[in-house]
Amino acid sequence: MDYISTRGSAPALDFEGVTLAGLASDGGLYLPREWPRLSQDEIAALAGLPYPVLAARIMQPFVGESLSPERLLALCEQAYGRFAHTAVTPLVQLDQRNWLLELFHGPTLAFKDVALQLLGLLFEEFLGRKGGHLTIVGATSGDTGSAAIDAVAGREGVEIFMLHPKGRVSDVQRRQMTTVLAPNVHNIAIDGSFDDAQAMVKRMFADPALTGRFGLGAVNSINWARLMAQVVYYFAAALQLGGPARKVAFAVPTGNFGDVFAGYVAARMGLPVERLVVATNVNDILHRALTDGDYSAGAVTPTAAPSMDIQVSSNFERLLFDAGGRDGIALAEQMKGFEASRAMRLTNAQRQGASALFTSARADPGDMAQAMRWAWENCGETIDPHTAIGLHAARQQDLPDDVPVVTLATAHPAKFRDAVERATGFRPPLPLRVGELFEREERMVELPGDYDAVAAYIAGNATPR
Ligand SMILES: *Cc1c(COP(=O)(O)O)cnc(C)c1O
Repeated sequence: MDYISTRGSAPALDFEGVTLAGLASDGGLYLPREWPRLSQDEIAALAGLPYPVLAARIMQPFVGESLSPERLLALCEQAYGRFAHTAVTPLVQLDQRNWLLELFHGPTLAFKDVALQLLGLLFEEFLGRKGGHLTIVGATSGDTGSAAIDAVAGREGVEIFMLHPKGRVSDVQRRQMTTVLAPNVHNIAIDGSFDDAQAMVKRMFADPALTGRFGLGAVNSINWARLMAQVVYYFAAALQLGGPARKVAFAVPTGNFGDVFAGYVAARMGLPVERLVVATNVNDILHRALTDGDYSAGAVTPTAAPSMDIQVSSNFERLLFDAGGRDGIALAEQMKGFEASRAMRLTNAQRQGASALFTSARADPGDMAQAMRWAWENCGETIDPHTAIGLHAARQQDLPDDVPVVTLATAHPAKFRDAVERATGFRPPLPLRVGELFEREERMVELPGDYDAVAAYIAGNATPR
């Protein structure tokens, strides 16, 4: 399988190449040249497979020659063997129509583990083959950082520099990153927002002073391998709810548009999806873009769902490319305009392409708390603030009666237990598997929100390729 850039001028790469590259050299994001298609019979035949087997089947066409089917299956078994639930991503029924897809049974309690546990193994596999050293730089609004650090801590040939916005991640999130003391892990707290941190990381990939000396790799959802791993649970959920014979809708708490884009990929592969509901909080650029074509970034408002406190959603570019006719050169122009003015209009083709499958809903803090209370009082389920925004959006939808709606439960409620307690009066306990998080030593450096200072720190501490 060949991968091409959304901005039309970077060289095509194979799966191993895109896994190690992250961002394309023209500033775009990689996508498969074409979507692999499964017939309805082929999809039906996947029902009932153990999760790692299903994962290997769904991912094999994307991986192509880069891994043998046996090797891919072995890596999936290793990655998903670390989950605390043997179904890996179990479904829980809330009422006649609504379901939760629990994606938080991995080591760091958020859905990011589903992709990153595998990505850590892929890095080790590909680097072991070609030799060399990979320096991962990433920005996190909380959950990517801990999941990525857990996935690469102590692994051969890889080190990680993770930027987080100082004071804007929860205590549990911060400690899950800063208490990992492996020598290949470097935590950096910067003054600024997640968008500031993400913009710095993007700039590093285009900075010859860094790319010349270090082999830079990405763990943010700009990395295609992450999105690919997330496609699997859309199939897993739909197959359990009667797919492919029955259509299913998904409500997805959205920030960088990676998770919901994986749902779009599942649909492109042939999975019958009724609708993908993009759930946002008051940082609602995606809701505005999908309802009236206005993609303009405002200032970030911090909320109780920090992984969604994002104004610029990197992976939205992938949808604009694919739904808008795959014209990379035109999209490069459009994105350049956006980067200069932080605003753009979607083209008619992009709007029509998106509206075939996507709708959106926005939850304010009151809506979010109400959804948490509804799940607690009616179903005895505690849900985290991100999941609550998804559930709010799910319950707003006007859908045919026989369509189940699956809300992606993206974080364990204990990861955001202050917000859960405020809404429901119940404080969810941390699962035993995270251990004595609050007793452990923390290690991080604090830097100003200044590109040169952060780039200099990384150049001074990273291992050349
Ligand atoms: C990362 C994250 C999201 C947003 O996912 P995207 O792929 O960035 O849209 C939502 N909820 C939680 C808990 C997350 O960690």
